[in-house]
Amino acid sequence: MKRGNLKIFMNLAISRIRQIIPHFNEQALTEKDFWLICEKENIRVVETRLFVDGFYFCDGRRNFIYLNSALRGIFWLENAFHEIAHHFLHTPPRSQRQETEARAIALIAILPRGQLEKLVSEADECSEYAERILHERLEVLSKHGI
Ligand SMILES: [Zn+2]
Repeated sequence: MKRGNLKIFMNLAISRIRQIIPHFNEQALTEKDFWLICEKENIRVVETRLFVDGFYFCDGRRNFIYLNSALRGIFWLENAFHEIAHHFLHTPPRSQRQETEARAIALIAILPRGQLEKLVSEADECSEYAERILHERLEVLSKHGI
């Protein structure tokens, strides 16, 4: 699939998220934002012991997000918004392209465009993890302009 199409899907997902969270890609989203989206979109969240970080599925009527109960802090947020992205982007998540899109949406949720400049200037104080996701987020910005 061409880059142009990827952007259309992502923009549709972003505008649906913005209807619930207007500051998406302006301020970093929080756990509270996650629960608000789940409430508005009727997504049932199950936190339990899993062999993966999380997954999303829809049985045709109800939406479910399963999250690994061992996830904490930023890892929890990253995976929670990744699964939310699958809800808005595609049901069920299957291809590598869909994973890339969900990853991009999650990165935008936790590293909004409005804060990138500041984060880049502080990058040398970052952990290896923070540096890695910042690098990935900047790739999303340069590829898709979002
Ligand atoms: Zn995924």
